[in-house]
Amino acid sequence: MINVLFSARDGLWAEYEQRLPEAFAELELQVRFGRDLPPEEVDYIVYAPNGGLSDFTPFTRLKGVQSLWAGVEKIVGNQTLQVPLARMVDPGLTDGMVEWVVGHVLRHHLEIDADIHRQTGDWKKVPPPLARDRKVTILGLGALGAACARALIALQFDVTGWSRSPRDVIGARCLSGPIGDALDGAEIVVLLLPDTPGTTNVLNAESLARLAKGAVILNPGRGPLIDDEALLDALDTGQVGHATLDTFRIEPLPSAHPYWAHPKVTVTPHIASETRPASAARTAAANIARAARGEQMQYLVDRQSGY
Ligand code: NDP
Repeated sequence: MINVLFSARDGLWAEYEQRLPEAFAELELQVRFGRDLPPEEVDYIVYAPNGGLSDFTPFTRLKGVQSLWAGVEKIVGNQTLQVPLARMVDPGLTDGMVEWVVGHVLRHHLEIDADIHRQTGDWKKVPPPLARDRKVTILGLGALGAACARALIALQFDVTGWSRSPRDVIGARCLSGPIGDALDGAEIVVLLLPDTPGTTNVLNAESLARLAKGAVILNPGRGPLIDDEALLDALDTGQVGHATLDTFRIEPLPSAHPYWAHPKVTVTPHIASETRPASAARTAAANIARAARGEQMQYLVDRQSGY
């Protein structure tokens, strides 16, 4: 019997209360599962930072933590957590991100906004280019970035990907050197990097200048990836044509923030993708089951690199 604590915001309990025990049962794992287990008896924690737990010291026999979130910047530096930490990599989360990214890439590629606003009675043909003639750069080729790259390649976009270590996504030009090489001439840029000291302000005045004039930025990654002042300047000069932003340095984005009223910015409220309980419960249970069998958990966070 292992003891698994659930620690996430209150509203999530109803989503996992049944699903996680069912998933453990499917794996034939004997589990005592709850929100109020004595800390010294807890073996594993299913965790989200918004559950209020930040001191792991009382969990003296803790063996591993499964995050419900893909982004781990709020927990990775927690010195009281000394056991393996696994981030969420899950088909529901990935599929949601692929749909959001493909949808917003197509919005700009096909200039759908222009069609919506050009209902003038004027029969003026402006055929869009083909996807193969549209340069899309994806910053980050991890679980989410690589899946988005594959979906855009399937639509025949001209895809470049950029990562810290060399990656291989069939059909994409994969780069891992200076960011400028990945951004040169890009018409649409998708940010799917984690928030770490190494990725802060990767889009800044210098790197934005490498893009094609009028390029579009999509940021479902994290707010600190973009130097906000530099982006606002680039929008004003026309170097950037539009930014669709899902993540921000401060969330919720304050109502007075210039992004809200900017005519070339679309704000979405951190909904690019969500952890879907139906699949995430299975994913979390399977990873804890691995650990309980003595195997290494999957998708472990590397504390040194911060993701
Ligand atoms: P992964 O850890 O699987 O992938 C991260 C990618 O970023 C890897 O390719 C990694 O390189 C690359 N990377 C990290 N640091 C650097 C660097 N300094 N320079 C260049 N490349 C770097 O993460 P996921 O794909 O699962 O998720 C990505 C991010 O998406 C999350 O961290 C989170 O912030 C965000 N997210 C947003 C959501 C939303 O709703 N808006 C929902 C879910 C996630 P390498 O391959 O070499 O390791």
